[in-house]
Amino acid sequence: MKKYLLVINAGSSSIKFAIYQKNTLSVQLVEDASGQIEGIGSQPHFTVKTPSDQVLADRTLSVDEVRSHSGAISIILAWLRDYLADGELLAAGHRVVHGGRRYSAPVLIDAKVLAELETLIPLAPLHQPHNLATIRALLESIPSLPQTACFDTAFHQTQPAVAQSFAIPRRFADEGVRHYGFHGLSYEYIASVLPALEPTLADARIIVAHLGNGASLCALQKGESIATTMGFTPLDGLVMGTRCGSIDPGVLLYLMDRHNMDALALEELLYHHSGLLGVSGISNDMRELLASSDPGAQEAIELFVYRAGREIGSLAAALGGLDALVFTGGIGEHSAAIRAKICLQAAWLGLDLDESANKAAAGRISKLDSGLSAWIVPTDENLMIARHTQRLVCHSEAINR
Ligand code: ADP
Repeated sequence: MKKYLLVINAGSSSIKFAIYQKNTLSVQLVEDASGQIEGIGSQPHFTVKTPSDQVLADRTLSVDEVRSHSGAISIILAWLRDYLADGELLAAGHRVVHGGRRYSAPVLIDAKVLAELETLIPLAPLHQPHNLATIRALLESIPSLPQTACFDTAFHQTQPAVAQSFAIPRRFADEGVRHYGFHGLSYEYIASVLPALEPTLADARIIVAHLGNGASLCALQKGESIATTMGFTPLDGLVMGTRCGSIDPGVLLYLMDRHNMDALALEELLYHHSGLLGVSGISNDMRELLASSDPGAQEAIELFVYRAGREIGSLAAALGGLDALVFTGGIGEHSAAIRAKICLQAAWLGLDLDESANKAAAGRISKLDSGLSAWIVPTDENLMIARHTQRLVCHSEAINR
């Protein structure tokens, strides 16, 4: 009988999922299909395709069917039952945004864990509730199915205390106001594949640039995170599609005072109307900006690159030097132009880009005699979640035996 793992990534109005087949003869996992329900509560649409882009499902759903994440889970499970036929669903692994200070690794979910994750909602009010609602919906539908929580924050728990602190009174740190960092599953995946790419990278001082709609950098030392640009929330650090990145907190005070903005208005501005979109006034999509001759588009790209260059300098200082720079995420993996501009910003560190390797998107994109190497490594957060889930579930199966 074929055995499968389900990976779930729940957002505010969407649930993305992927199905992995567990190879009975090895620990290798193979992606079988991936899909999503978008427009939950407004215009729900369901799609599923194979890794080679063959469409397995594509249909518009009624709002009555999919008012909430619970409705979306019912649709996905009904489709899965047909698709898996007599195959067995072993477990589900969830991407959960916040693990707070408690969780430095993925965990099997039980009532106690769920209750603890609820207490972290104030730290991530935009994402955590949707992650938990989806876990609960699955729990109601299939109570016996083991579920795991894999956190975006966990990988950064190895940051030294000084990198996790803000210079505000200690009582706020005690209630959880700390520099956590996000994109942890992506960085963990990259750290896991780097040694196979080049054995010396296992012990090297590395900056990974995850450049997508959300964007951040992570400083890796011996494969562990020692600093990262996102902080208390995924707003901090680099310029992103619609998020502002680092900003003088005095700007927020000014906006509150002079523009009567409250927390909700600031949240809307800083999460959804800033970044590339806010600066260009055109789009949050890097492809559109690169294709545009509008000065606003050029200014947004320039700021994106400038901030990335500054933050690379900051993380190189935290690492005490730099041996390699790795690009990943939609922009990092696909835009030779942005990679070239960022590598130029890092020339002072000794980086010498191989233009043709960069254009060809080869794995290594720096010249062989470059002072530090540069690489493109496609990320795979879903596979990371599937691997963790397999490990946690197989381990507990072994204990229960
Ligand atoms: P998310 O953070 O939502 O997962 P992705 O990692 O998919 O986002 O990255 C989305 C970004 O990648 C968009 O800004 C998109 O324009 C950009 N992107 C994708 N392909 C290219 C390309 N060929 N050239 C430039 N930018 C690209």
